[in-house]
Amino acid sequence: MPRQTQTKRNAMPKKKNKLMNSIVFLFLELVILIVIGTQVFKILTKKSNVEIAAELEIPSWIDVQLIDEGNPSRSGALLEGINDIVVHYVGNPRTTAQQNRDFYNQEDSDVCSHFVVGIDGEIIMCVPLTEKSASSNDRNRDTISIEVCHPDITGEFTDASYESLIKLVNWLRSSFNLSTDHVIRHYEVTGKECPMYFVRNPEKWDQFKEDLKAAEEGKPISYKFSGEGSEEESDELSMDDADDFTADNVDYATDEYQNDDLVYAIDDYNNYNYDEYPVEAPDEVYY
Ligand SMILES: [Zn+2]
Repeated sequence: MPRQTQTKRNAMPKKKNKLMNSIVFLFLELVILIVIGTQVFKILTKKSNVEIAAELEIPSWIDVQLIDEGNPSRSGALLEGINDIVVHYVGNPRTTAQQNRDFYNQEDSDVCSHFVVGIDGEIIMCVPLTEKSASSNDRNRDTISIEVCHPDITGEFTDASYESLIKLVNWLRSSFNLSTDHVIRHYEVTGKECPMYFVRNPEKWDQFKEDLKAAEEGKPISYKFSGEGSEEESDELSMDDADDFTADNVDYATDEYQNDDLVYAIDDYNNYNYDEYPVEAPDEVYY
């Protein structure tokens, strides 16, 4: 009898332990299931960047002037994704954002970008963020494009356009959750010297990436343009003797504008050889 009692006494805690183990095991299984389930739910319900773009409210500091649908430069084709932001320069010194936007809107134009940033920092939106633009070659399918105006043929931006570019790129980056690694030059797509100043001065492009991060953190942007172009080009490309040359005075804004060949209208105003600095728009196949 005493022996039997002893056995019974030992059996009770063992059963209890087993039960406790089972409960703990079940609980852990449940936690793992919840974690996995949440992740799967997140993946299944996660919006693509194009879906986000469709619902995105365009801030008031962007002047929305969509180009006409059916125009060759606005095919209306939807983006396959939004993976990178491509920065360009317009290649037409002293042209305004409005002039470039209107150029894209011509019936026979087959080039356009989502945004044009002007010399004075104005930003015009030309194509909806859900649609493909026509400026970044085979990356038109999954990128947002930004053309930036510039005062001279070095392609150097102004402080105003640079600051607007940073504001615009950071808004796009935060909207589509893109790191600065996803901000690229047209040069990365095709090897084209675009945006020229940032291809010829790669350290300034690195600085631009740093300034994007600084602005995101609310810190001041350290970089200011010298207004002299890249160092080795500044003497040769100085536009000092064309002081009264303003975009408003350029013939292409009126009569010669219809020629498409913007760069030669500008060339009439000085003796620089623009052949070396091909204009962004007419020279390339963008599709
Ligand atoms: Zn370009």
